[in-house]
This record gives sequence, C-alpha cells and structure tokens, in this order.
Amino acid sequence: MRTYSSGDMAKLYCKECDGCGDCCRCMGDTIELDPYDAFQLTYGLRKDFASLIGPVVGLHENGGMVLPFMQTRPIPEEEQRARGMHFADGQEPEECIFLSADGRCQIHGFRPGICRLFPLGRQYAEDGRSQCYFMVEEVTCDYPKTKVRIDKWLGIPDLEEYEAFKIRWHSLVKRVQERLSTPGADDAFRRKISTLFLQEFYIKSYLGTDFYEEVGRRMGQVEPLF
Ligand code: SF4
Ligand code: SF4
Repeated sequence: MRTYSSGDMAKLYCKECDGCGDCCRCMGDTIELDPYDAFQLTYGLRKDFASLIGPVVGLHENGGMVLPFMQTRPIPEEEQRARGMHFADGQEPEECIFLSADGRCQIHGFRPGICRLFPLGRQYAEDGRSQCYFMVEEVTCDYPKTKVRIDKWLGIPDLEEYEAFKIRWHSLVKRVQERLSTPGADDAFRRKISTLFLQEFYIKSYLGTDFYEEVGRRMGQVEPLF
C-alpha cells in the first residue's frame, strides 16, 4: 500500500463532482469524532457539545469505550423513489444529517476530520509515534481525480500540531481500549472511564482556550492512568 505525508501530492480532487452525495451516504456510525471535531462542531454550530448528543451526535461503543460519532438519518422509501436513489443489497438507505438536498455538506468549514481526509485514510505507526496517509480503496465514484497537495486538501491550520495531537490522542485511546478489553475490566469501570472521557474531552468546552494547549493539558492528566 502506498503511503503519503502531508506534503505529498495525491489524486484527490474530483473536478467533475456533480454533488450526488454518495460520499456521505451509507456510512453508518463510522464518522467517529475526536476532541478537535467536538471543538470545531461546537464552535461552528454555536452549541455546547452536550446539546448535540442525540440530534447531531450519536454515542457508540468502540473497544469498551463510549465514543461519539456523526448522526445519520434514514431515507424513507418515498424519498428514495422521488430522488431516484438506488442502494445495493445490504446497504442501509441513510445519509449524514448535514448533507443538503443538492448533495453538499452544510458544515463544510467545520466538518469532521474523517470527512476532510476522504478519500484518504490515516494510518498510525505500530510504536504510536508517527502517522501517514493512504488512499481508501472504496472511493464511491469513477470520475477522474486530479492531484492536490495533501495539506491543502485537509485545509487544517497548524497541521503539524494537529497531526501531533492525532498521534497522541490515538495512542491514548488505544491504551484505554486495551485496558478496558482485559478480563479484569468490569462494566462499572468501563462506564466510569467512558464518562470521564466524554466529560473531559468532549463536553467540557474548549471555547476561549488554545485548543492544542488545552487538550494537551487534559490528556496529560489522564495519560498517567493508562
Ligand atoms: S461520489 Fe463522486 S460525484 Fe458523488 S459526491 Fe462523491 S465525489 Fe462527488
Ligand atoms: S459532515 Fe459533511 S462531509 Fe461529513 S458526512 Fe456529513 S455531509 Fe458529508
């Protein structure tokens, strides 16, 4: 598999994109949110994170932890017919709640990191010290793509700091998930840790802080526990 760094060029831009919206359908609960996404969403929507849980953000279990993901909405059959939509067998007829009727992202400026990446994915080194990008196999359309520099594609300011945060966050979550998967971890302990993470890294606001400094401080408090 070919891997890339943020300064590399990759075939990402779909010049002929007609906004069919397929990129944002049938994704289930795969758009998992990290604290930077939570910060961006609360800032962009001018809402506190707790009030987003339910209508905008779902909670699911991943590796014993409860983590937030972007909500989708089911597309009723009548709407599928009216819009000429077809879903393959086994595909759930659903789309992101922020996908507009004309196939555009309504929160483009503060969309989650996974959406910014697509059609790239992020891969972390085994030792948890670095990360790289790779092309996701199942791109949803056959339109030709033109090359773009990955850092431009992501459009995230202070990308070095962001990548350092992603590596540290991934490493912390992985350690917690490993710990919660051990036979000694009971449900009460899982609930306690999940509540701590939700409260400390998502619900507690980052507004008015330097995000990287603040999330680093919060991670620094929790890391010694794992
Ligand atoms: S599937 Fe292709 S045409 Fe449709 S929204 Fe995605 S990039 Fe655009
Ligand atoms: S947030 Fe925007 S880009 Fe991401 S899945 Fe929803 S509509 Fe698509």
